[in-house]
Amino acid sequence: MATGWGSLLQDEQQLEELARQAVDRALAEGVLLRTSQEPSSSEVVSYAPFTLFPSLVPSALLEQAYAVQMDFNLLVDAVSQNASFLEQTLSSTIKRDNFTARLFDIHKQVLKEGIAQTVFLGLNRSDYMFQHNADGSSALKQIEINTISASFGGLASRTPAVHRHVLNVLSKTKEAAKILSNNPSKGLAMGIAKAWELYGSANALVLLVAQEKERNIFDQRAIENELLARNIHVIRRRFEDISEKGSLDQDRKLFMDGQEVAVVYFRDGYIPSQYSLQNWEARLLLERSRAVKCPDIATQLAGTKKVQQELSRVGVLEVLLPDQPEAVARLRATFAGLYSLDMGEEGDQAIAEAIAAPSHFVLKPQREGGGNNLYGEEMVQALERLKDSEERASYILMEKIEPEPFENCLLRPGSPARVVRCISELGIFGVYVRQGKTLVVNKHVGHLLRTKAIEHADGGVAAGVAVLDNPYPV
Ligand code: ADP
Ligand code: MG
Repeated sequence: MATGWGSLLQDEQQLEELARQAVDRALAEGVLLRTSQEPSSSEVVSYAPFTLFPSLVPSALLEQAYAVQMDFNLLVDAVSQNASFLEQTLSSTIKRDNFTARLFDIHKQVLKEGIAQTVFLGLNRSDYMFQHNADGSSALKQIEINTISASFGGLASRTPAVHRHVLNVLSKTKEAAKILSNNPSKGLAMGIAKAWELYGSANALVLLVAQEKERNIFDQRAIENELLARNIHVIRRRFEDISEKGSLDQDRKLFMDGQEVAVVYFRDGYIPSQYSLQNWEARLLLERSRAVKCPDIATQLAGTKKVQQELSRVGVLEVLLPDQPEAVARLRATFAGLYSLDMGEEGDQAIAEAIAAPSHFVLKPQREGGGNNLYGEEMVQALERLKDSEERASYILMEKIEPEPFENCLLRPGSPARVVRCISELGIFGVYVRQGKTLVVNKHVGHLLRTKAIEHADGGVAAGVAVLDNPYPV
């Protein structure tokens, strides 16, 4: 992959002036975050970190990622409906991982009572890196799929204008025109609106499960605004509010503050620290209800790293997506090496290989939100500690993807503009809606490119490591 903006990145004075213009445009476009000092208030805000230039991405890989998104939607939906696959796949993990176990308990409880929900909505984001091969070619490799609270669709809708602005300032109008338009927030809202419509109660609301401290509120507001434009009202509530004021009627319709809820959209509830006992009770109440949960608990479980690893096993895709060999081939082409650490020979061998060649592997627990994976020497130490304990089944091993680094300039509030060697991660947003057994919507609705300095092995934008970017197709 060519590294792109070459000489432009050398001229420090020009970079500073461009950075000032870019930041002002980002603020004007609404590429915003609340500050870490005041995460509950919008009185003081700043721009979300971003790259000064769009990063070069091979168009073929971008097209491939878009082309496989509907397959991933189908796959997640199929896994979420396959209770025995989930049970088998997660059986060793839930013995050792409390968080997954609690989610799984709720899943079992809801299945036992009978699922009241009839309309299902998936809003996911499949993330990839570009593996740099020895022959100079690049390959699209999935990092993970996010089935709960996949974020930055709102802000990613606003960054193309910023990069076009930068290129226009440089009179690179032809290049500016090559930056793809992108509007995931509109597509995500379309999915919520469709689910709301199929739920079929004109006065019912959308309940956005929100965190008290939410720096990324403008990303969420972008979706709320789209819904309001369709005359669909959104209320934001915390788990605590739901536990105090939420209720079910005899048909298991969900009510919040006395108003019926059609769709529950989670922007909370994906890591253990977000759950008190009270919050777990609220989650159970929501799951038992007839309201469309995005995601329902089975779909959240379908997004675990353990499920991802199991899907890569020979023959599994064929069982989950029977008679769809083309979809299976497209999906499998994006899989990196994934290894189970369940007790037994297969897991022993994976551990031995990772200890022998640590730079080729990543150790992943069942966690979301960035910063949880282990690499290099830390990974080796963890594997040495875990290898004779059943606790190892709560992790998976993954082949480490090695993209070709390139240079870009990263802009963050409070830091001077910095030209660094970077790598990118591409996400594609997928939306599907199912009514009973019938899939009504299956779409891709846009992309997100995040770029980070190569010295960080892990972490996304919210973790303060990656910054927002746009693909510049080549
Ligand atoms: P999380 O759910 O915490 O986002 P991820 O699987 O996305 O977990 O990993 C977090 C980050 O770690 C990714 O954004 C990526 O930068 C890095 N990472 C994860 N898996 C790999 C991999 N196989 N190869 C290289 N980097 C990886
Ligand atoms: Mg991730």
